[in-house]
Amino acid sequence: MNHPVIYMDHAATTHIGKPALDAMLPVLENDYGNPSSLHALGQRAAHLLSSARTEIAGCLGAFSDEIYFTSGGTESDNWALREIARMGAESGKKHMISTAFEHHAILHTLRRLKEEGFEVTLLDVHEDGLVRPEELEAAIRPDTCLVSVMYANNEIGTIQPIGELGAVCKQHGVLFHTDAVQAAGHLPINVKEQNIDLLSLSGHKFHGPKGIGALYCRRGIRLTGLIEGGAQERGKRAGTENIPEIVGMAAALSDACAHMDARNEKTLALRERLIDGVLSSVPRCRLNGDRTRRLPGNANFCFDGIDGEALLLRLDLEGICASSGSACTAGSLDPSHVLLALGLSRETAGGSLRLTINEENTEEEVDFLLRRLPVMIASLRKMSPAWKEMNGAK
Ligand code: PLP
Repeated sequence: MNHPVIYMDHAATTHIGKPALDAMLPVLENDYGNPSSLHALGQRAAHLLSSARTEIAGCLGAFSDEIYFTSGGTESDNWALREIARMGAESGKKHMISTAFEHHAILHTLRRLKEEGFEVTLLDVHEDGLVRPEELEAAIRPDTCLVSVMYANNEIGTIQPIGELGAVCKQHGVLFHTDAVQAAGHLPINVKEQNIDLLSLSGHKFHGPKGIGALYCRRGIRLTGLIEGGAQERGKRAGTENIPEIVGMAAALSDACAHMDARNEKTLALRERLIDGVLSSVPRCRLNGDRTRRLPGNANFCFDGIDGEALLLRLDLEGICASSGSACTAGSLDPSHVLLALGLSRETAGGSLRLTINEENTEEEVDFLLRRLPVMIASLRKMSPAWKEMNGAK
């Protein structure tokens, strides 16, 4: 595929890859049956649906009857939290634990649950962007019904010790959900080995289509469902299934898992070139999050004395697509809640840049960025009252 731009915003979304497209096009053209219909065309769609479910389950180490299709990561997150809240309330357990740097799909659902009478403990995230299992253990109470910790952060890319967190939850008999939207297709996942009870993923983060996702829910957890209507998804999630997108997401996830190691190796080498280059060429700059325990394609920096939004516009003029914080909060002038959760000041957090690359990026693209970025930052600093103040200039 010919990119007209240098795309370094893969955490926001990815283009549809060939495996997904090849799987989707014949379905879009020919297999328009409704999987609930009894005739041959409907049954063909039902077969596609069932194969896709098996494929996704295989990528997660799950059983196929543990996979439910949704409209994306947001719905999966909402569903998981609301279902467990309902179950918790039934047994008098109204305490939930999560972290301060989750995606808003989690944080805003928790805020709503709090309004409905739940108690929520948000674990501190350390400056390295990692949650400590012993701090999770200390926060668990007899009335805790759910722990939800994201697998990999969407802004700073840090990877949580999910297996250890899952083990703590299992030991204390508390259900464990992880938002794996940024991890699925990029990091190995085995829900059984990692003691994950519920997991959310989204197709568009691994070269699948947008508007499609899945919720894994361990056998034995009695889901009821958020959306009322027909008996689709074994009566748990009503609405005619989006077969082309489901098929595309399954093909994309299989492809991502099959080539994960080779792609990650290439991406990692590019990321190291990028991080080393930025840290050595831009003064007064910091890398956010642990240097190694982060997604292979994630680099997130703060530059003193500049406005992240202004930098993004400069980069865009040169054809470089990047992000400051998460795309979901773009347009808002509030500094990233993730960077604030790491303990950064509002001023420092306001000068952030997230570059998320993958194996399709090239050394030439990284080098182009490394040539242009220091010039842009120097020019922005020249005009910045904050930079002048920091440096004691009149
Ligand atoms: N969770 C995380 C960590 C994300 O990065 C995103 C999307 O950016 C979501 C949830 C929401 O996923 P979706 O866009 O599929 O609703």
